[in-house]
Amino acid sequence: SRYVNASTAATLTVAVRARPLVRAEIAKGGRRDIIRVLDGRVVLVLDPDDTKDYLDQVQNRTKEKRYTFDVAFGANSTNRDVYNGTVRDLLGGVLQGINTTVFAYGATGSGKTYTMVGSPHDPGLMVLCLEKIFSDRDTMHRDEEFSVTCSYLEVYNEIIYDLLVKNSSPLELREDPELGVVVAGLKHITVTSAAEIMSLLEEGNRRRKTEATDANASSSRSHAVLEITVRRTPKNHYKVTQLRGKLSLVDLAGSERAAETNNAGQKLRDGANINRSLLALANCINALGKANSGKAASYVPYRNSKLTRLLKDGLSGNSRTAMVATVSGSSDQYHHSINTLKYADRAKEI
Ligand code: ADP
Ligand code: MG
Repeated sequence: SRYVNASTAATLTVAVRARPLVRAEIAKGGRRDIIRVLDGRVVLVLDPDDTKDYLDQVQNRTKEKRYTFDVAFGANSTNRDVYNGTVRDLLGGVLQGINTTVFAYGATGSGKTYTMVGSPHDPGLMVLCLEKIFSDRDTMHRDEEFSVTCSYLEVYNEIIYDLLVKNSSPLELREDPELGVVVAGLKHITVTSAAEIMSLLEEGNRRRKTEATDANASSSRSHAVLEITVRRTPKNHYKVTQLRGKLSLVDLAGSERAAETNNAGQKLRDGANINRSLLALANCINALGKANSGKAASYVPYRNSKLTRLLKDGLSGNSRTAMVATVSGSSDQYHHSINTLKYADRAKEI
């Protein structure tokens, strides 16, 4: 839910995006689109079994579920629709020095990368955010100093790798007294237009560690984080203020549980670590929610994973967070979709 509390002022927006069946799924047959979005907020998941009769329905033997979120996007939505309904209004804050985090959460194949990175003909949130930052810059005072830098990394097996360089070695997190948590040796590039970033993101994504699972999908087991830092020095006659706002856009690893895929060995270990980062993220959001709603001040366990240590500045204190939970509308993904919607629903209720 969108909440603002005087003591912490942290806000969280929970959005859901359902994707349509892709051509390959339609070609396979036996699947149908079971997700409906109503009133731009309600997500209705129909029973995946369409053979149930009226008596089953009235006697409540249906697996139909309904959830309400801050905002929800259906199969026909574009990346720009999602952007307009979630992050666009947060970018003004980034230009004022407010740290902001946006993450895509969902099972493998549900549309996280499509939403965050997209393609040249349908750019995702990462590119649309940069576009807006540069168009806002164009309306600013000419003599204002303004710079935008980006880094792009992945957390795989609790190890950080640079996605902007070939064959990155593992990188360490350090606490910088002025900058907070930094990744030592991570490449930061200065960007002067949004157009530059698309090819860098595509190149970086090809470097992400993926592994085929039993479900014979190419499953991404890494979390990818694009960090955009905006530095401004607005000038007026009285004072010079320096503003530094950080926008982190996170394409999380697939949320399906290791236990649910029939993995073994290395992959199981991967799964455990992914769950560790996802679990740590969930716990942090929970603790923040408690703090915000004025319940007992709770300790926020940022230190429990690389991902939460990295995102700390963008999740705590005077910061804003948006979560885009992605689900596939396909009936064979029912269980994954319900798990994701339950997770998002918990995040909303905190
Ligand atoms: P994830 O990153 O969550 O594993 P992807 O973003 O790679 O999933 O999406 C899986 C497949 O579904 C891709 O082929 C992608 O092009 C397609 N897809 C995802 N979201 C949408 C959407 N909103 N509209 C159309 N196709 C989509
Ligand atoms: Mg992906």
